[in-house]
Amino acid sequence: MARAAIPGRLDWRVATVVDVRTETPRARTLTLDVPDWSAHKAGQHVDVRLVAEDGYQAQRSYSIASAPEESSVALTIERIDAAEVSPYLCDVLRVGDGLEVRGPIGGYFVWDVMQAGPLFLVAGGSGIVPLMAMLRHHARASEPTRAEAPVKLLYSARSWDDVIYREELERLADSPYVDVTIALTRDAPADWRGHRRRIDRAMLEETGWPASRTPRIFVCGPTPLVESAASLLVALGHDPVHVRTERFGPTG
Ligand SMILES: Cc1cc2nc3c(=O)[nH]c(=O)nc-3n(C[C@H](O)[C@H](O)[C@H](O)COP(=O)(O)OP(=O)(O)OC[C@H]3O[C@@H](n4cnc5c(N)ncnc54)[C@H](O)[C@@H]3O)c2cc1C
Repeated sequence: MARAAIPGRLDWRVATVVDVRTETPRARTLTLDVPDWSAHKAGQHVDVRLVAEDGYQAQRSYSIASAPEESSVALTIERIDAAEVSPYLCDVLRVGDGLEVRGPIGGYFVWDVMQAGPLFLVAGGSGIVPLMAMLRHHARASEPTRAEAPVKLLYSARSWDDVIYREELERLADSPYVDVTIALTRDAPADWRGHRRRIDRAMLEETGWPASRTPRIFVCGPTPLVESAASLLVALGHDPVHVRTERFGPTG
């Protein structure tokens, strides 16, 4: 008997936008209902394809922000001015619209709370997105499991208004197993008492785990930030095997 083919991970599927949320003046979260979605791992991404009426296609990768435990797929996109894909995703797509996606993709930049051991997450700008999936996955685990995998996040953003998931991060930081540090590089509120500079060696040393704790480390964001943070972490004694990186774009 003939059976309908089940779409594979790398087949394109038309997802439906079921929710749109403004995160910051430049970033928006699209929640998608993807038919036959196979559960993802925290840290994975999808490919998105836009096809114009004349057949021109543009394809980009976007990390999955939602926890693996959620059935819908959340993407958070930062608008880049005068660019091809992100302004469409940020400004044009509406609830009910369709969007071609394939995935989940990626087997290297992934983390599971059952791996246990300390975790250090380092984000720049929209690089917070796959790390948020890890934090949300961590938050869904049982208390003893969370205690076995304490997390520290160092998140570099241009300004307070550019901090994506700000309120949720504040809530997550209430947990004794989650430590959140935000560093602002351009503008800071007058009463800001946190870091006001780019990520440097002293900041990584102060906000992360010592190398002797052998944390798993995930660094994500603009290429220069990722390369600099990864080299500094190795210089601080972390085994390069434990420092995993994902580069989002050519510049900050
Ligand atoms: C694995 C992976 C996961 C990603 N996840 C996310 C995500 O969760 N959220 C997200 O917003 N983006 C993410 N990106 C980046 C995304 O794929 C696009 O590169 C980004 O949205 C820009 O596409 P665009 O078509 O708008 O810009 P383009 O038209 O491709 O580029 C326009 C201009 O912007 C520059 N540019 C391109 N990308 C960036 C960038 N990221 N930062 C600054 N300048 C840039 C280009 O050099 C060019 O000058 C991810 C990338 C990868 C590889």
